[in-house]
Amino acid sequence: TAITNHMPTEELQALDAAHHMHPFTANGELADKGVRVITRAKGVYLTDSEGCEILDGMAGLWCVNIGYGRDELADIAARQMRELPYYNTFFQTTHVPAIALADKIAELTPGDLNHVFFAGSGSEANDTNIRMVRHYWALKGKPDKSIFISRKNAYHGSSVGSGSLGGMSAMHAQGGIPIPDIHHIEQPHWWAEGGESSPEDFGLTRARALEDAILELGEDRVAAFIAEPVQGAGGVIVPPETYWPEIQRICDKYEILLIADEVICGFGRTGNWFGSETMGIRPDIITIAKGLSSGYAPIAASVVSEEIAGVIASDEFNHGYTYSGHPVAAAVALENIRILEEEQIVDQVRVDTGPYLKEKWESLVDHPLVGEAKIVGMMASIALTPDKKTRAKFAADEGTVGLICREKSFANNLIMRHVGDRMVISPPLVISRSEIDLMIKRARLALDDCL
Ligand code: PLP
Repeated sequence: TAITNHMPTEELQALDAAHHMHPFTANGELADKGVRVITRAKGVYLTDSEGCEILDGMAGLWCVNIGYGRDELADIAARQMRELPYYNTFFQTTHVPAIALADKIAELTPGDLNHVFFAGSGSEANDTNIRMVRHYWALKGKPDKSIFISRKNAYHGSSVGSGSLGGMSAMHAQGGIPIPDIHHIEQPHWWAEGGESSPEDFGLTRARALEDAILELGEDRVAAFIAEPVQGAGGVIVPPETYWPEIQRICDKYEILLIADEVICGFGRTGNWFGSETMGIRPDIITIAKGLSSGYAPIAASVVSEEIAGVIASDEFNHGYTYSGHPVAAAVALENIRILEEEQIVDQVRVDTGPYLKEKWESLVDHPLVGEAKIVGMMASIALTPDKKTRAKFAADEGTVGLICREKSFANNLIMRHVGDRMVISPPLVISRSEIDLMIKRARLALDDCL
């Protein structure tokens, strides 16, 4: 018999446990607990198989920027599938969705980031960056410039290459990553690691760790520095204001390419089209995915400068994916961007709902468990602590406070994510003021339930 939304929840759970391996999950534990089955979604709400409405404070995985259930995207996908469901953009051909989307991305992205190499996911796009940057330096007669400097607790994807760029120790412990020639420096995480120093001094110290690394490794060997404008999966860590200008100065001084991984920050998340604009940086390459299609279809890209594209064009670059520039995904992404523009969603985040959320989110610091509340646009975090003054961590046996808080928020029909003892949100950018009120109310209930 067909497996449908109408089956009893327990049967769906049993089938899920029997055959479906969940990413980043202890699958045995999940099976014992019983997974919640999501059946549909509209706006900022998910509905589960019991008919319960859940406010999605994470926009899926930081990606459903225009919200769920937009018929325009479904219609465009159906039309494109009928007209041209697939043809690759390799070798001798191209197609209109790829041309139009590359053209639109070039228009939106800052500076001379005007050339687009498509991929199916953020991980693939970051793998593209590794290979393209190394090839670029080789073509420029500097094949020794192959080292990528990245940061501890960064997330750049799950493939072998992008997982190596990332700085997640739990990932590095499994599966043979990192690959060679990736070097990790400390992150600008003042709350957890700043000690007695001011955020400003700490921001400078952590930026200068890049300079120290370049000097230690040799500027002739360092190819690029890659970082998220605001670390997302690491816990929505907003760097001190001194951090990014110093990073930019160092990259310029030593001729190191600056790659901004905009997979989360791009397409309005920080209140501008790109996090690089919010942080005032001029990257040579950006990685985009997620909000590019609001998650309605898998698509990503590396967007590179005139200079890099020019050098790469002088040779055959032996790299690409079957789904590079997939016409259906590209058409969906274009329609998503049309909606973001027409409904002025990015402006709304910057001047209206973003500041409204900021006020409400920052008010959570009056809660006994909350040490700091950080927010940029519509990505935000709180630090849970037993002692706000010393910024203490919970003792090891209480170290699952974040996990408990996540469970409590889920029980209160709000999706928040935990990263250690940080709770993060990243709601659809279309969230209204009254939905923000409800989200904050449920977050408070979850925190109270942890007391
Ligand atoms: N880069 C960043 C900053 C991300 O947050 C993610 C995913 O969360 C990725 C890259 C990887 O993207 P994907 O999961 O599409 O491979």
